[in-house]
Amino acid sequence: MEIVKMLCPSSKYWCKAPYEMNPQGITIHNTANDASAKNEVSYMITNNNKVSYHWAVDDVRAVQAIEHNRNAWHAGDGGGFGNRQTIGIEICYSKSGGARFEAAERNAAELTARIMLQYGWGVDTIGTKVVNTHQSRSGKYCPHRTLDMGLERFWNIVRQKYAELSGTSVAPIPTPAPAPAVNGDSYLVQITTRALNIRSGAGTGNAITGCIRDRGVYTIVETQGNWGRLKSGTGWICLDFTKRVGGSSTPSAPTQPKGHYVGENVSINGVFTSSMSTKKLNPAVKSGTITKIVNGANNPYLLNNGNIGWVNDSCIVGGNSAPTPQPSAPAGFSKGQRVTLKTSAGRYCTGQTIPSSIKGKSYTIMQVGSGNTHPDGILLKEIMSWVYKKDVQ
Ligand SMILES: [Zn+2]
Repeated sequence: MEIVKMLCPSSKYWCKAPYEMNPQGITIHNTANDASAKNEVSYMITNNNKVSYHWAVDDVRAVQAIEHNRNAWHAGDGGGFGNRQTIGIEICYSKSGGARFEAAERNAAELTARIMLQYGWGVDTIGTKVVNTHQSRSGKYCPHRTLDMGLERFWNIVRQKYAELSGTSVAPIPTPAPAPAVNGDSYLVQITTRALNIRSGAGTGNAITGCIRDRGVYTIVETQGNWGRLKSGTGWICLDFTKRVGGSSTPSAPTQPKGHYVGENVSINGVFTSSMSTKKLNPAVKSGTITKIVNGANNPYLLNNGNIGWVNDSCIVGGNSAPTPQPSAPAGFSKGQRVTLKTSAGRYCTGQTIPSSIKGKSYTIMQVGSGNTHPDGILLKEIMSWVYKKDVQ
């Protein structure tokens, strides 16, 4: 899917997008005609009707018409939640339907999943107030063809795209699978391939229910030949693309913080009041000694036995550890390059907090910032978000 902008000029905000917005959700529509996304947007931004939306999506591209920080008039609820706090997505070609409409729906599902990831709206928000239809906002029978064809079917496509993009194993589970009993031979494996499909059964003849993209460590609770069943209940993976790690399974495999050690003196630019706090404070003192390390914590390093507080990698601006790469010397980045978003990353270039669920994973660079467009940032394709160069590796 191509993603392009054909933005409504700010001179028409009075009509199309009069209010600032901090998006709290997504509203799904069908256009009820047979125009392409570009034509829909072109028509919308050139007339003076108080009708607007953020995106139109067809079988080849998603076209953004209004930035997410402005409202749009699409939900039919006046000054309500839909119009004032949600991102409107129009799915094209719904009048006649057919293959190009279904392709447009799949692209809209992918766009929906990307936006959800961008704002940290979990897969469980699908069908709630957060991610819902025009019909849910004001009663209009829209998205008409999507509703005709089955709304839950569409939500399942969104769930699948979300799973693929996030690399998590949150996949639609067609029939609620009760937590299976562990047969005693559970063990941990590390994924050794870039993308590994999860299937509903042991073998490639079974439906794909998700995809793992994080090369992470997973617990297998049942084995059939070279297939293993995931503890999460989302399905089976082929063990040929994994390697056994550790002994028997443990609840989780915390990662060891790297690069710093107990006894190290560090200079800091921020501090937290607890190991799990997310509120970074300006420290009264600018350096301290690491006296304890708690693996897996948000802020793993305790300074001066708690007299200073807790810090993470984003707080440490210098230390006496063996060669620590300087965060302020970002390497050259290029389009198409794969990078990993550091778990220490705090905010997007656009200011919003980065949800922890998308940190620590690999993404593709879609654009490298320059000039007036986030010169210190890069645009990551899978989450369609600008992050700071210093926050990736
Ligand atoms: Zn609608």
